[in-house]
Amino acid sequence: MKKIIIAVDGNSSTGKSTLAKALAKELNYVFVDSGAMYRAITLYFLRERINWNNIDEVNAALKNISLDFEYNDANGKSDMLLNDENVEAEIRDMVVSEKVSEVSTIKEVREFAVAAQQKLGTKKGIVMDGRDIGTTVFPDAELKIFVTSDPEVRVERRFKELYAKNPSINIEDVKKNLEMRDYIDSNREVSPLRKADDAIVLDNSDLTKEEQLAAALKLVKEKI
Ligand code: C5P
Repeated sequence: MKKIIIAVDGNSSTGKSTLAKALAKELNYVFVDSGAMYRAITLYFLRERINWNNIDEVNAALKNISLDFEYNDANGKSDMLLNDENVEAEIRDMVVSEKVSEVSTIKEVREFAVAAQQKLGTKKGIVMDGRDIGTTVFPDAELKIFVTSDPEVRVERRFKELYAKNPSINIEDVKKNLEMRDYIDSNREVSPLRKADDAIVLDNSDLTKEEQLAAALKLVKEKI
């Protein structure tokens, strides 16, 4: 069967990754979480105290970053490696979430990440989720899905996810963080979050994970 590129875009915590992961598993495709790459770059900048308002510092820092994914047998997911260190847990921390959208506005950071993402797609058979996959990374992707869901549903989902790891998390902080990231992601100059003209909207507010997957698989079947 012909292998295609599937771009899954949308706001934070709309369930893009869940859908992209499930699709990849079902189709035996590679799943790439592009947000994890921006998170790993942000983690590096925070650890090394890089002043990201200084473009020379950013360029020098990017030269020292290598990003890879490593398949984790235990949970069937791919973990993010930053310079060969598994940073999967750390990149999900609030500290990183607070800064990732700001770092993601930097042109040089985006060029670095987009180049790495495009390299991963050369053999097709890939599902990548993010904000600009259908518009910038793979503008020729055979299938583009734009995932949306109600803001309250998104906050609730994100809260549950974070609460499992850190019960002292506050729902208001989660809400504020989502609103801030939505705003920055949609208003930045370089490849802002937006639906590609040829993307299909999938609103999952009232769908279970299984129903969402079934709807997406229907779209895939139409394409291959
Ligand atoms: O997908 P996730 O929420 O983990 O992404 C973290 C952040 O990385 C987003 O809020 C956004 O600022 C940035 N991002 C991006 N472009 C992508 C993926 C993520 O700017 N393709």
